[in-house]
Amino acid sequence: EELMIPALDRAVYFGDGCYEALYLVNGVLFALEEHLDRFYNSCRLLKLPFHLTREELKAELQKVVDQTDPDFAGLLYWQASRGTYYRGHAFPPADVKPNLLMFVRPCPLDPFHKRLKLISLEDTRFLHCNIKTLNLLPSVMANQEAHARGCDEAVLHRGSRVTEGSHSNILILQGGTLRTAPTDELILPGITRKHLLELAQENGIPTSEQPFTMVELMNADEIIVSSSGTLCAPVGEIDGIPVGGKDPENLDKLQKAYEHKFLVETKQI
Ligand code: PMP
Repeated sequence: EELMIPALDRAVYFGDGCYEALYLVNGVLFALEEHLDRFYNSCRLLKLPFHLTREELKAELQKVVDQTDPDFAGLLYWQASRGTYYRGHAFPPADVKPNLLMFVRPCPLDPFHKRLKLISLEDTRFLHCNIKTLNLLPSVMANQEAHARGCDEAVLHRGSRVTEGSHSNILILQGGTLRTAPTDELILPGITRKHLLELAQENGIPTSEQPFTMVELMNADEIIVSSSGTLCAPVGEIDGIPVGGKDPENLDKLQKAYEHKFLVETKQI
C-alpha cells in the first residue's frame, strides 16, 4: 500500500520489463542462482540494461528476506522495467535507469498429492515465450478461464502441439520416460522443469525433450504441472476427462526426490 510506482514507468504502459518469482522458506531463496541466471538472460534478450551486478541484486533481495518473519513461506517476486520516461516505443535515453520492484506474498505450497484439474486452450501468445517478460495478458486470460470453469490451470497448445501451462510447464510420464517440450521460443525454460529432468535422470527415469501432442497428453500415464509455486503437481482431469494415474510409482519417485531436494536446499532437514 505504501509503495509508489512512477506513472511513466515503462512497465505501466508497455509492460516493458522482466521478472522472477521464487520460493522463500526458512529464510532461504530456493534455487536463487538459477533464477538470477534466467533474469539476466531475460534482460539480455530484451536489451534491458539492468544496472545492478549479480552481487548487488542479491544484496537487495536479501534486504527483503531480512524483513520477513522467520517462519514466512511464500513467493518472492522481483521485476525490472526499462525505467521512467515519456511514452515512446524506442528505448529511452541511456541515462534512464531501470526500475526495480520487489515484494513477498504468502503462498502455501500445494500438497503434492492433490491431483489438479486442467482445461486445454489454444496458445495465442507471441513467439517470445522464452523471455520472462511482464507481458502476460494471454496467460492471465487463460488462467482466469480455468478458474471460471472450476479448474486449477490451463494447458496451452499450438495446433496439436502441447506447449506449457498458463504459468507452469507441463511434463508427462509415458512408458516410463519423462517427456516435456523442448526449450525453444514457445515455452519458458522453467527452473522446476529443469530440476525434474535432472532428478529423473538421477533416479533412472529416461527423459525426452521432444514436442508431444494433445492426444499423447490425454493418453499419458501421468501428467505433471511444474512451477516454483507448485513444484511437481499431478493432474487428474483435463476438460472434464479423467487422465493420468497410470504410473504412480515413477510419479512418487519424482515427487519424493523433489521434496528431498527442496527440504535439503532450504535447510529444513
Ligand atoms: N511457464 C510459464 C509461462 C510460467 O509463467 C512459469 C512460472 N514462472 C513456468 C513456466 C514455470 O517456471 P518455474 O519453474 O521457473 O517457476
